[in-house]
Amino acid sequence: MFPDLSKVKDKEAIRRSLERHLLQSTGMEPEAAQAQHWLGATIGLARELVSERWAEARRKKERQGAKEACYFSMEFLVGRLLTDTLRNLGAYDVCAEMLTRVGYNIEDIAELEVDPGLGNGGLGRLAACLLDSTAAIGIPAYGYGLRYEFGMFAQRIKEGWQSEEPEQWLRFGGRWEFARSDLTYPVRYHGRLAESGRDGATAPGQWIECATVLATAFDIPAAGYSSDTVNTLRLWSARATHELDLERFNAGDHLGAVLDKAQWESLTRVLYPHDGTAAGRELRFKQQYFLVSASLQDIIARLKRQGCSLDMLPSRIAVQINDTHPAMAVAELMRLLVDENGLTWDHAWDITRRVISYTNHTLMPEALERWPLRFFEIILPRHLQIIYRINDSFLKEVAARYPGDIDLLRRVSFIDEDGERHVRMANLAFVGSHRINGVSKIHTELMKRTVFADLDRLLPGRIINITNGVASRRWLAGANPDLRNLISSKIGNGWMRDLSELKQLLPFVEDAAFRADFRSAKAANKQRLANHIEAETGLSVSVTSIFDAQIKRIHEYKRQLLKLLHAVALYNRIRNNPGGDHTARTVIFAGKAAPGYAMAKLIIKLINDVARVVNHDPLIGDRLKILFLPNYSVSLAERIVPAVDLSEQISTAGTEASGTGNMKMAMNGALTVGTLDGANIEIRDAVGAENFFAFGLTTDEVAYLEKGHYDALSYLRRDNDLQQALEMIGNGFFSPSNRDLFQPIVQSLTRGGDRFFVLADFTYYVGIQAEIEACYADQEEWTRRAIINTANMGMFSSDRAVVDYAREIWQTRPLAD
Ligand SMILES: *Cc1c(COP(=O)(O)O)cnc(C)c1O
Repeated sequence: MFPDLSKVKDKEAIRRSLERHLLQSTGMEPEAAQAQHWLGATIGLARELVSERWAEARRKKERQGAKEACYFSMEFLVGRLLTDTLRNLGAYDVCAEMLTRVGYNIEDIAELEVDPGLGNGGLGRLAACLLDSTAAIGIPAYGYGLRYEFGMFAQRIKEGWQSEEPEQWLRFGGRWEFARSDLTYPVRYHGRLAESGRDGATAPGQWIECATVLATAFDIPAAGYSSDTVNTLRLWSARATHELDLERFNAGDHLGAVLDKAQWESLTRVLYPHDGTAAGRELRFKQQYFLVSASLQDIIARLKRQGCSLDMLPSRIAVQINDTHPAMAVAELMRLLVDENGLTWDHAWDITRRVISYTNHTLMPEALERWPLRFFEIILPRHLQIIYRINDSFLKEVAARYPGDIDLLRRVSFIDEDGERHVRMANLAFVGSHRINGVSKIHTELMKRTVFADLDRLLPGRIINITNGVASRRWLAGANPDLRNLISSKIGNGWMRDLSELKQLLPFVEDAAFRADFRSAKAANKQRLANHIEAETGLSVSVTSIFDAQIKRIHEYKRQLLKLLHAVALYNRIRNNPGGDHTARTVIFAGKAAPGYAMAKLIIKLINDVARVVNHDPLIGDRLKILFLPNYSVSLAERIVPAVDLSEQISTAGTEASGTGNMKMAMNGALTVGTLDGANIEIRDAVGAENFFAFGLTTDEVAYLEKGHYDALSYLRRDNDLQQALEMIGNGFFSPSNRDLFQPIVQSLTRGGDRFFVLADFTYYVGIQAEIEACYADQEEWTRRAIINTANMGMFSSDRAVVDYAREIWQTRPLAD
């Protein structure tokens, strides 16, 4: 199933190597070593093994002059690395055996690894899945990101409220990192344009008197599954150009002398914990430029080292920008080519556009990045000049084709002149890219119809779709060993390379013994999660209940409130008829709220307050439990996903670009209850409508209601369960010590206009949940549908997504042997 290193390497040598790493990296001898030390030793061994391949892959790539994909992303949510890396190297079993000999279980050791939370959610996780897949397929690639000292905050729940604590993932040192001080580049800010550079912006600019900070690379290897390719996650860390200001120090200003250094180095101190809303702060602006400038300098330096001219950039490098966060790459590449390498403007523009492409992740207005013009004026004056120049010639072309259409010019301009002037990063990214992709079919359609309608008309054919995917080795094979073994026992291991082979499971749908095995794998996963829940919260949950999970960032558009209102309705139903026949359910929530998003934080509080009342109501017993599992992260997701029966994907149609949590759970044999939104639609097409619980308004219906046709209260009047649930929330039933606490939630759903149509979808949602319960009562039927789901999820592998990117955008090929 996984390759096995011990077939090619002497076991004793591996053992000696492990002990050597123990001594070298922890100073311990085997007798005295504890679990943490063995973790250090095992990572040390993995590093050694991976570096050999890494070097070989690098040589091979250079020999072949292969084109590289460079994925620019402000976030890489990689999760723990030990298990995947050992497996990909074929060293997992032999390490497990060695650790057993010294009295440790490799799974327990792997659990001790910190999960570096260098991302917020789906966007960062996508970056990690794509990098994993490039290595598995053998496509040379770099992930370029930032080495935040503090990643995503750790979430604790205190009296029902989210509290945020800093998470220093480097507290034991970056065990996977290779510090590359040889790869250090100056990144400049502020300063001014010399007079001579001010006129014809096409001449090389003279950007002078800048403040300079250094970017140093830290590399993390990304080993591919049963592949010789090892790709690189290259993260930039900020360092001041001088350690301290000696003049100030000598003058007695000891603190002042290091202040500047501290300020510049804070550039990569912390990840912005915002998901789907533009953060709008100067430090974030500087971070984005830091990523873009260091990465592009690195690419150009590498090319030159290999003796290539810059003309060869488009044939050697593809830059993919993950959302608009790295969109400054368009202006920065122009600056590097024109100002620092002497290319003509037109030549540089041709290269830039052929190198860069852009993935859009959201259409929601509040998430479309716009930076105040004054940030550019003060911090990146040369880039503003370049942006103006690109904009001018673009608008001239538009004006020539549509004479007199001033309104069109206003809409497509890079500069938003409404109120304070801003730069629209999406317009810059669009015009500066040869391909722009959406991340699900419907999302791509909506891009063409809404936000990018004008640009699509002006530059037709640039927008394409590449539906997201997930790394099946992590999310299915790694997270769900019972199911992995069952699958392989029937269809072999080919599905680990080519997930579409899961289709071969279809004949087993009608095999009762297989169904029983499939069910017991799920039951074992549920039991494991139940044990974890009991250990963490003291609550015991029934493993025969439906494990009903909504795990994702807390956001109004994702509609945790819809799930919660349903849970309150179920609660009332049991209370009104305690002797009735009720399907038992365990409702599992997990997710973080952005620290400044008050409504999302209040939703977390409400979930916890409802949970407290329901879980301690003796009338309810096992029939309904509501859980909020704190600190959602890749590691926690790996625990929950295999245990889920029912996957909740209930965003308002038109708001979730794709979703990837939906894919992880369906792959693991969960049935989905979902709106016709994002990749849900394609999942439903793949697994068959009869094996998917679809409900709710369509995007067209939502669009209609949004044109002033929505009256939330009319839905409220028609549904007694809904009225009762909202009344209880609003009148303090769940918050007796502060009866008005949840009024803001009730108000937003009623008089506030219910922006995400929770009330409109409620009745339909409750209805389909009743169908779900009926289906669950027939376990054979449920299992049939679950198997059909798993069997048809092949196209949602990130391997497939990477193949699409490589063919449709990057024009890259796997390395030859
Ligand atoms: C998969 C994943 C996400 C994305 O979930 P969605 O349901 O698609 O929003 C977010 N966070 C983590 C930790 C994940 O693993």
